[in-house]
Amino acid sequence: MRVSVVGAGIWGLASAYACALRGDEVTVYEAGEVGCGASGGIVGALAPLVPDQWTPKKQFQFESLHSAANFWAEVDKKSGQLSGYGRIGRVQPLQTERAKELAVARAEESRTLWQGKYQWTLHSCPEFIAPEVAPLGVIHDTLSARIFPAQAARSLALACKTLGVKILENHRVESLHPDGFSGAFGRVKSDAVILSAGSEGFRMMDPYVPIHETTGVKGQAALLDADLTGQPQVYAGGVYVIPHANGTVAIGSTSETSWDYPEPDGKLDAVIAQARAMVPALADAPVLQRWAGIRPKARRRDPMVGKLPELERVFTVSGAFKIGFGLAHSLGEVMARMIRDEPYSIPESFTVEWHLAGG
Ligand SMILES: Cc1cc2nc3c(=O)[nH]c(=O)nc-3n(C[C@H](O)[C@H](O)[C@H](O)COP(=O)(O)OP(=O)(O)OC[C@H]3O[C@@H](n4cnc5c(N)ncnc54)[C@H](O)[C@@H]3O)c2cc1C
Repeated sequence: MRVSVVGAGIWGLASAYACALRGDEVTVYEAGEVGCGASGGIVGALAPLVPDQWTPKKQFQFESLHSAANFWAEVDKKSGQLSGYGRIGRVQPLQTERAKELAVARAEESRTLWQGKYQWTLHSCPEFIAPEVAPLGVIHDTLSARIFPAQAARSLALACKTLGVKILENHRVESLHPDGFSGAFGRVKSDAVILSAGSEGFRMMDPYVPIHETTGVKGQAALLDADLTGQPQVYAGGVYVIPHANGTVAIGSTSETSWDYPEPDGKLDAVIAQARAMVPALADAPVLQRWAGIRPKARRRDPMVGKLPELERVFTVSGAFKIGFGLAHSLGEVMARMIRDEPYSIPESFTVEWHLAGG
C-alpha cells in the first residue's frame, strides 16, 4: 500500500513505523522538522490513570503502557539511538486522609486490574522528597515509566528510515482531498492518508469534523542539571519531576487553555519552584532549558481516531493531549490495521463518530 502520513510528531511517526513494518510504502510530510511540535519536548511521563472505576480507556492505556518497553527497545535497536525509555516507577505524596483512603482502596483494586504485573503500594516518605510534602507517606507504583520525548521522536524517525520510510521535512500540507492532499509541492494521491498534524491538524479537519471544540493547550516545562538517576518520577499537585537517564531532570508542566504566544514565559517559574520545594536535591540545580509546546486536544481529553467523513481514503489519529507518548505505539498499530480494514479495538470515546456525536 502507498501510505502518506501528515505530521512527524510521535503519533505520525508511530503510524508510519507500524505501516512500514507491514511492508507499506510510506512517506511522511512534515511542515517543519521531525519533532518540531509537541513531541519535541522534555518531560515524557508515561503514567497510568488511577486503578479504580475501570473503563475501556484505562484498559487500553494499561495495555499500551505495558507493551511500551518492548516497543521502545525495538525502536532503539533499529535506530541505534536512545529514546530515554525506562520503567522507573512513580511516587505520589499523600497529604490528606481522604487521599490516603483512596490510595488504600486503589492498592487493593490494582491487584486485579493490573493483573499482578505491577504494584501500587503505600510507603513512608522517601528520603529524596521533602517530608512536609508527604506527611502521610507516598503511593509508589511500578507501572509508570518515562521517556525523553525529543530523543524518542528522533529515534523513531531513524527507525522508520531503516524500514524505508521517506520523511519529507519542510513539506506543509495545505488541504485535504478525498484521495489525498496538496501543498506547495503539488497534489499527492495515496491509498491511505493518515493525518496526525497535532493541534494544527484540527483546522484542516474542520470542514469534515466540525466539532469546534478542538484546541491546543499550551504547556511549559524545564530541564534541570541534576542527577536523580535511580529515583522514581514524582507527581504532586499537577507537577511532574522526571529523572532522565542522561543525568538531567525534567519539570513539567503548565496547562494553559488560553495563550497569546507559544514560547516559554514567567508562568513556568511557579512550576519550577514547586518542584524545587518537593525535591530538595533540585533546590539549586541550574536550569538548562525552558521549553513550551502546544498539546493537541480534541473533544474533552480523548484522542480522535478514524476515517474522516466524506473523504474516501483519509484517516486521522489526533488529540494526543497529555498522554501521547504512552499511547503512540498502540495507536500506530491501530492505524496500520484501520487503513487496510483489519480488525482493531479502541475505546468508543476515541472514535471520530463519538466526537462528532458530541460524546
Ligand atoms: C509541556 C508539555 C509536557 C508534556 N508532557 C507529556 C508527558 O509527560 N507525557 C506524555 O505522554 N505527553 C506529554 N505531553 C504531550 C505530548 O507531547 C503530546 O501528546 C504529543 O507529543 C502529541 O504528538 P502528535 O504527534 O499528536 O503532535 P505533534 O508532536 O504536535 O506533531 C504534529 C506534527 O505535525 C506537523 N504539522 C502540523 N501541520 C502540518 C501540516 N499542515 N503539514 C505537515 N505537517 C504539519 C507539525 O509540524 C508537527 O511536527 C506534553 C506536552 C507538553 C507541551
